[in-house]
Amino acid sequence: MGEETARATDGTVAGSRIDQATVEALVAAATSSRQHAYSPYSNHLVGSAVLDGEGRIHSGCNVETVTLQQSMHAERTAVAAMVAAGGRRIQAVTVVGPYSGVPCAECRQVIWEFSGGDPDVVVISAPLGEEPELLTMGQIYPRPYGPETKGIDPRDY
Ligand SMILES: [Zn+2]
Repeated sequence: MGEETARATDGTVAGSRIDQATVEALVAAATSSRQHAYSPYSNHLVGSAVLDGEGRIHSGCNVETVTLQQSMHAERTAVAAMVAAGGRRIQAVTVVGPYSGVPCAECRQVIWEFSGGDPDVVVISAPLGEEPELLTMGQIYPRPYGPETKGIDPRDY
């Protein structure tokens, strides 16, 4: 566990805007959804969970198809679940997978769509068997192209 993930005395995770209980709830939700992943072709089961602007957690898992091109990553199905529930703003996202807990480039773009242009949106990388690492969108996607570029606020839609 790095210094960024050390628990502060007020319950927040040092260097982050979310507390340890929220980190644990997000990782638990992503881990649970991962069990439902549909990945018969890659056997690469991934779960994800997002914390929306109202503090609700939405989870997702990867869904493959035989052609693979239409496969959906866990982060995107979690974001879709948030949108379907009326959420338009992401405070934090976590990824639980076998090799990495960092979203791929395409998922970073989708997450950024609902980040509110905020580089401090929390990304919790939680590879299986490892302590979660807290990152930010600014760290993993430092030069974003997003709806703010075109003056769009997803909360208006
Ligand atoms: Zn992805």
